[in-house]
Amino acid sequence: MTICDRDGRVEGWRILVVPHDGESLSHFLGRFRRANHLSVTMLGQVSGLGVKIMRWERFYHNPFPVIDDLRILAGVVGVDADRFAAMLPPHGTRMRHAPIRLCGYCYATVPIHKIAWQYISTRACPECNRHLLSECPQCGVRFPYPALWSHGCCSRCRTLFSAMAQRQTLDMARPSTVPSP
Ligand SMILES: [Zn+2]
Ligand SMILES: [Zn+2]
Repeated sequence: MTICDRDGRVEGWRILVVPHDGESLSHFLGRFRRANHLSVTMLGQVSGLGVKIMRWERFYHNPFPVIDDLRILAGVVGVDADRFAAMLPPHGTRMRHAPIRLCGYCYATVPIHKIAWQYISTRACPECNRHLLSECPQCGVRFPYPALWSHGCCSRCRTLFSAMAQRQTLDMARPSTVPSP
């Protein structure tokens, strides 16, 4: 029997959670854990991957997750291992694990953290060309790592991530995709 709820489909002991395109592994793991009421320690135990889960949620990708580990995780959470590979930076792409960055404008459309926002080479949101936020524009507190984005708002002042779009400016330095007349 298949049961549906807000987070996904129930299969065996777990509620399956569907990843979004571009979603970071950290954000996905947080969603899966909350849907299944698992702490990071519990998911580490269930999967046998131990502290690797916590390291991945915090973007500590050194050593880089190997495909065998991703296959183990895939079996536990019910997501194809190739989808996990897409949640990690492409080979050779350097990323920062801090500060965590946000595009409130895109978050308002799809409430996820995108892995591309953490690439060192990314200066503006690849989707909307707005400058990314590294802290809450209202109170200045930095964003927690995405696995903890359960409420979609600042952890201190509770400003909604989607509302922060008002404070994002367009990156004028980037070449426009619209040809000049
Ligand atoms: Zn954006
Ligand atoms: Zn705030």
